[in-house]
Amino acid sequence: MAISGEPQTENQRKPVTFINSIFPLVIFIFGFFPVISQADITKSSWQTNKSQHFIIYHQGVQPALVDDLISKAEFYYNSIVDDLGYRRFDFWSWDNRAKIYLYRDAGEFQRETQNSSWAGAVVSVNSRVIKTYVGQSGFFDSILPHEMTHIIFREFIGKNIQLPLWIDEGVASSQEQSNLNLRLQKAKELIKQNKYVELNALSGVVKPDDNMEPGVFYSEAASVIVFLLREKGKEDFLRFSRMLRDGTDWKKALLKSFNFINFQDFEAEWKNFVLQQY
Ligand SMILES: [Zn+2]
Repeated sequence: MAISGEPQTENQRKPVTFINSIFPLVIFIFGFFPVISQADITKSSWQTNKSQHFIIYHQGVQPALVDDLISKAEFYYNSIVDDLGYRRFDFWSWDNRAKIYLYRDAGEFQRETQNSSWAGAVVSVNSRVIKTYVGQSGFFDSILPHEMTHIIFREFIGKNIQLPLWIDEGVASSQEQSNLNLRLQKAKELIKQNKYVELNALSGVVKPDDNMEPGVFYSEAASVIVFLLREKGKEDFLRFSRMLRDGTDWKKALLKSFNFINFQDFEAEWKNFVLQQY
């Protein structure tokens, strides 16, 4: 449904510069997948390692890196479901395990997934698959939790629920580690300088490249969800997720779940929260 890149600034949009930039590019694709097929797997003779919630497919990757991936993925699985208030739901056990395809380098990843050179990972929400490659800076502390969160959030609320892009990307970005503080600081600067995009306008953005600078979009989106999770709490976020899952309009669900008087009240509280950070 949506493809989103998230370079930090206008002049960092060039693919080549992007992988080394502060915010690694992540491609998020709802429901897509041109590349995962049985033929793909057998052709490439994947080796597999399994853990409680994951099956890792890899080839030509050092065993230590695979072990590292498994332990980080399990760690993030637990921290994500805990942070979002989904602790009591079991998403990815046994036959429902998520699959991570780990390519040995960028070249092989791009060849096999037919992705553009700046993609750090691809994810399919429908088939619960993440494809990525080793050696990327920011992979373990940003790309991996970001993509896992996309899948977990959509598995909870439903894949066909229509939401503004900032909610999906904000939830995913809220679970990043190293990037998150930078995003919150940027959001704070935008608010301080009165250069932020009002949340009503943010809600109309379907592709950040076209409507607004991606760095601004992701910073604001992440800061709103962090505000909801930290200031309002995970029980409220769980209530919000349930209302979305049950088909309630997202604005109504948001106001009701988090007890905002209206959308202006929501925006004012968000700004106050962000201004108090750091
Ligand atoms: Zn994303």
